[in-house]
Amino acid sequence: MRKIVIAGNWKMFKTQAESEEFLQGFLPHLQETPEEREVLLCPPFTDLSALSRNLHGSRVQLGAQNVHWAEFGAYTGEISGPMLTEIGVRYVIVGHSERRQYFGETDATVNLRLKAAQKFGLTPILCVGETKQQRDAGETESLIISQLDEGLINVDQENLVIAYEPIWAIGTGDTCETNEANRVIGLIRNQLKNPNVPIQYGGSVKPNNIDEIMAQSEIDGVLVGGASLESESFARIVNYH
Ligand code: 13P
Repeated sequence: MRKIVIAGNWKMFKTQAESEEFLQGFLPHLQETPEEREVLLCPPFTDLSALSRNLHGSRVQLGAQNVHWAEFGAYTGEISGPMLTEIGVRYVIVGHSERRQYFGETDATVNLRLKAAQKFGLTPILCVGETKQQRDAGETESLIISQLDEGLINVDQENLVIAYEPIWAIGTGDTCETNEANRVIGLIRNQLKNPNVPIQYGGSVKPNNIDEIMAQSEIDGVLVGGASLESESFARIVNYH
């Protein structure tokens, strides 16, 4: 049985006070959620400590949005794995397209971060996905295969989540057709040594499309941006039918 992972990626949104306000609206809805669904919030670094305290005893897990590959060192502006696990963080997003696009993340640095995440006890969520231009040029498959081949060198596939996020579907309201997302995710699964790795879909996931997305045979969860910022809409997504 593959695990279901429903994750909210808050990106660079919410102060600590706003994150606590979110939880007050969100947590009461969780009682209806089946236990086998992993529910995960990935806020900015500055929210993690307070959320960790407030989530103590709940079944919501915490994820960070990035991790450095060293244990410590002269890396101004970076955060290490042990700094995250110490405050109760269990997951980390690695190689999000916004990191690749704006912050020079490459498959090689993604690979370093994935290995470090695992070494220091975190479960990484590796993001892959193509631009509109790459899709139109028929390069989706080859791009994703190379992101997986290079990103996953010496990475343990027993402790891994993958997110397929077509870049053209992120923040645009332009969701990938669910059967197409299912097809690409099947292709990703065929590239893996471990067929039980949970593979999420991400890109304009909303309360009104979550049921259809989760009905697809290959899709094991979602990585949600905008719709995870509002407690009621994220609760609706977590409680999909
Ligand atoms: P949206 O849900 O806002 O499209 O963002 C998706 C995403 O990038 C999640 O990591």
